[in-house]
Amino acid sequence: MKNFVTGANLKDAHCINANTGRDFNIDVYGDIRMAKDGDICPKCNGALRIYRGIEVGHVFKLGTKYSKSLKAVYLDDNGKEKFMVMGCYGIGVGRTVAASIEQNHDDNGIIWPVPIAPFQIMILPLNMKNSDVVKNSEDVYHMLIVSGIEVLLDDRDERPGIKFKDADLIGIPIQIIVGEKNLKEGKAEIKVRKDGRRVIIPVSDIKNEVVGLIKELMI
Ligand SMILES: [Zn+2]
Repeated sequence: MKNFVTGANLKDAHCINANTGRDFNIDVYGDIRMAKDGDICPKCNGALRIYRGIEVGHVFKLGTKYSKSLKAVYLDDNGKEKFMVMGCYGIGVGRTVAASIEQNHDDNGIIWPVPIAPFQIMILPLNMKNSDVVKNSEDVYHMLIVSGIEVLLDDRDERPGIKFKDADLIGIPIQIIVGEKNLKEGKAEIKVRKDGRRVIIPVSDIKNEVVGLIKELMI
């Protein structure tokens, strides 16, 4: 090439009429491109495999940068003072949440693992205009809260279909569905978000049932 254009190591600037030999010397000519899956390793002839990963945390080797300024020393085998070699690590809470959702979801939305779920239980009163449904939902809500269980109550005046869809979308592990029909027999439905398992049980058995389910899903 002759009189070509190069970068100028300055923002928004280029050099024109650059010529090798006069303006700079080239040490190495090479065929340079991005590595891709299946590329052969120059050392062992193995094939490079590329995977998607999520950076959940960092590890930094700080060396003696801070121990020198802090004068943090130790005595080695020969009784000589040496600067400590330091490292530190950090785990990002936001990244951990994103990573967990990426690993735990289906077409309908998030499936929170119980240990990190923002709530363990979600209660869905299917008809906010029915005072029996509302009262039973609120009673179950308070009873579970008092037992130290984290509960979310969907008390919006929405159609059941919307509540079901949103409950699956936000993925609280266990849903308690309180509807008129089951309530007439003193019962409510419990659904496990992870596998769609459903049981219809007496309202008075709800606490035992969900405590058992939380234990089971904790593993
Ligand atoms: Zn290799």
